Amino acid sequence: LSPEHQPSTGPAEMTGPTALKMEANILVLGADGVGKSALTVRFLTRRFIGEYGELESIYSHNVTVDGKEVLFNIWDYPYSKDPTDESCAEEEKRIQWADGFVLVYSICDRASFNVICQTIQLIKAAKDCIGPEKLPIVIVGNKRDLHHLRNVSSEEGRLLALSMDCDFYEVSAAEAYHGVLMVFHGLVDKIKESKLVTKR
Ligand code: GDP
Repeated sequence: LSPEHQPSTGPAEMTGPTALKMEANILVLGADGVGKSALTVRFLTRRFIGEYGELESIYSHNVTVDGKEVLFNIWDYPYSKDPTDESCAEEEKRIQWADGFVLVYSICDRASFNVICQTIQLIKAAKDCIGPEKLPIVIVGNKRDLHHLRNVSSEEGRLLALSMDCDFYEVSAAEAYHGVLMVFHGLVDKIKESKLVTKR
C-alpha cells in the first residue's frame, strides 16, 4: 500500500485503444466514522485492521480487473458539516480530480445516510451534469454485520440509488472482502462506460 500525497494532474485516461492499463481516480466520500478507510484498506490489502487513524492520502495500487491491470488512485475524504468557502473550493477540486465516486454511509447511522443525497447533488453540480448522462457513482451502506443496530433499511438505500441513477451495495468492511471488491470493480466498469460515452 503506497500513499501518494500529490494528486496526479488531470483526469485519468486509458492510454490508447490497445493499452492494457487503465487509471481510475476514485474519491471515497461520506460522514466521519462510516468506514471509508476500512473499505479502502480492505479493498487494497484484503485486511480489516479495526482502527485507521487519520488517513489523508491518495493510495495508488495496481489491481487486475477482468484480466486487465488497473491503477487505482483512491482518496478517502470526510464530509464537511460546516464547509467554509475554502473547503468548498477544495472539495470542488477533489471532485474534478475524480473519475468515479464511492459514497459511503453506515446502516446504523441515519445522519450519514441523509448526507448522501446532498453529496450527489454537489458532485453533479461540480461535474456540470445536468442532463441524463450517468456519472460513475456507487452508494454503499457499510457495517452490514451490525444488523441489530440497523437504522437505515436496505430498501431505503436501494430506492435512493434508484432515484439518483446510481448503483447500490450493502457491505461489511469488517466481515467480507468479496462485497467490497464488487463495489470497486463495479465502479471501474461504470468509469469505463462513461469514458466511452464521452469519447463518442
Ligand atoms: P472513516 O472515518 O469513514 O474513514 O471510518 P473508519 O474506516 O475509520 O471506521 C470507523 C470505525 O468503524 C472503526 O472503528 C472501524 O473499525 C469501524 N468499522 C468500519 N467498517 C466497519 C464494518 O463494516 N463493521 C463494523 N462493525 N465496524 C466497522
